[in-house]
Amino acid sequence: MELTKVSLVKFADQRANIRRAVEKCDGFKELTPEKKVLLKPNLVMWDEALPYPKFGVITTAVVVEEMVKLLKEHGCSDITIAEATTEDKDINSGTMAAYRGMGYPYLEKKYGVKLCDLNRGPYEKIEFDGFSLSIAAPVLEADFIINLPVLKTHNSTKVTLGFKNLKGCLARRSKVFCHHPEIPLDRFIQRIGEKLAPALTLIDGIYALDRGPAVNGTAHRADLLIASRDMFAADVTGTMLLGMRPDEIGHLAEHARRHDLPLDGSNVEIKGEKLSDHVMPLRWDWGWLEDNSGPTAFGRMGISGIYYPKYDDTICSGCSFLNNMLLILLLGAYTGEPFGNIEFLTGKVARSKGGFAKTFLFGNCIIRANRDNPLINEAVPIKGCPPRTEDIVRILNEHGINADFDDYVQYRASLAARYEGQPQFQEQHFTITA
Ligand code: SF4
Repeated sequence: MELTKVSLVKFADQRANIRRAVEKCDGFKELTPEKKVLLKPNLVMWDEALPYPKFGVITTAVVVEEMVKLLKEHGCSDITIAEATTEDKDINSGTMAAYRGMGYPYLEKKYGVKLCDLNRGPYEKIEFDGFSLSIAAPVLEADFIINLPVLKTHNSTKVTLGFKNLKGCLARRSKVFCHHPEIPLDRFIQRIGEKLAPALTLIDGIYALDRGPAVNGTAHRADLLIASRDMFAADVTGTMLLGMRPDEIGHLAEHARRHDLPLDGSNVEIKGEKLSDHVMPLRWDWGWLEDNSGPTAFGRMGISGIYYPKYDDTICSGCSFLNNMLLILLLGAYTGEPFGNIEFLTGKVARSKGGFAKTFLFGNCIIRANRDNPLINEAVPIKGCPPRTEDIVRILNEHGINADFDDYVQYRASLAARYEGQPQFQEQHFTITA
């Protein structure tokens, strides 16, 4: 069996090690200078309103910058950085804000790199087996895609590495479609990865994220770079480093089945560090109470009178992020008295089984799914796709829940405080050096 090379290199604050990671897996073997190169980092969200620890959440600027320098040295002149950061005006989240915030315009000025916001399209409709998805044309037109995901866990797909990072190349409507009531999310992720087939994947493991993929996860300094010309091999290695088995990851298992590949890493040749020396088992899931009435924090605080079932795969990123905020607001609003027999539903398919004084329906999808539900006593729609923060707080208050946005602000400050005074967490890794 022919072995696939995967580099596993310590970063150790040495930029030269990014070069080593690329060289050890012959990353530029198929790259000729005239090729159109597209870099796809993971800049899933941006936030200029609240404390935003980026460790393990987004690709570091140091990896992006060094990759650009290597490409220039290789003679490449047509280089694009492309991403579609979640858009939210309340916190100035968007691709260009993220690019500016990390100093990417310097790459434009100094190296002639094009900065592309995939949220703006255009898109091309691509047919798959049984569904179609709109994929950003600049990605489809690239000759050499370099995929730059982060080494992180994910609350529904367990890991979000090379394959999952490419979901960011879809039009928003298609991203939403992937959280489908009947087709598993992992199938979409596998098909997108198979279609785009990046020429090089470099997993940025300078930081790794426990209970990712967002800011409420806990980052660790893993200090690793994982690179391969084969995205599947890179993801298998990344999954093992996160202490998980590749056969437990739906999209990897699907890819292995379709391409007759082993899932135990036996076709992978690791170049550099020994994998077993760096395994860092991280958690991907959030604990929920046994009766599914809320997160385990509800149990710890003795909260009752509320039924908040666990999110399912149909909830997409916009609602998922705000779902965490909603839970923090409810924890802050708890006075020691039971809530008034209320229920909260999220995602696209959950139906109330009745028995509650009020059913809060979070987002347009779940409002639609319960429109004609006769079991609901009083429906409280929280409209939006996703809902706006101010509407969430206002509606809770109108229904006697004393939610205070400051509780969420303090929570975010506490997330950022986790990393303060710890020299292994370096904010400058997220800024391009001018
Ligand atoms: S309402 Fe929420 S779950 Fe529905 S499409 Fe919008 S963001 Fe996704």
